[in-house]
Amino acid sequence: MAAKDGPRPPCAACKYQRRRCWPGCTLAPYFPAEKPKMFKNAHRLYGVCNMTRMLRRLRDDQKDDAMKSVIYESDLRQRFPVYGCLGIIRQLQEQLKRYQDELYHVNSLLAAIKLQGQSRNHQWRNQSPGRGVPKKLASQCKQECDADADVHTVDIVDDKH
Ligand SMILES: [Zn+2]
Repeated sequence: MAAKDGPRPPCAACKYQRRRCWPGCTLAPYFPAEKPKMFKNAHRLYGVCNMTRMLRRLRDDQKDDAMKSVIYESDLRQRFPVYGCLGIIRQLQEQLKRYQDELYHVNSLLAAIKLQGQSRNHQWRNQSPGRGVPKKLASQCKQECDADADVHTVDIVDDKH
């Protein structure tokens, strides 16, 4: 910011209107002197009176966002005289729709792959050989081992006596 009493370079709005930019100029924070084109665009679309009236009505915490919106909209209107912001909004909506479709396809593909994986896993479990057999083998083996152990125990006992 410029010094209080020194000569202050006018903001783009005051320069355009050829008036002195007083300290506390409502448009100075949004239209610096080095961006006259930005002010011209906003002035063409809204006009100085409308912008100052809007700024007076808004709360302090809303002013920056409102002016960002005004400047963005004015710049786009200057670049795209027919559609302005609407052109960008449509582009973004189309892009969003494309991404949503893509996401839908990817999710369906994932669901199909999961389903295929589950059915393969199920088939493998059902076809897996010897699921019940190891129990039988284990019980047979245990019986044989227990019998052997008894014999050995008896033998050992017999040796001691
Ligand atoms: Zn000013």
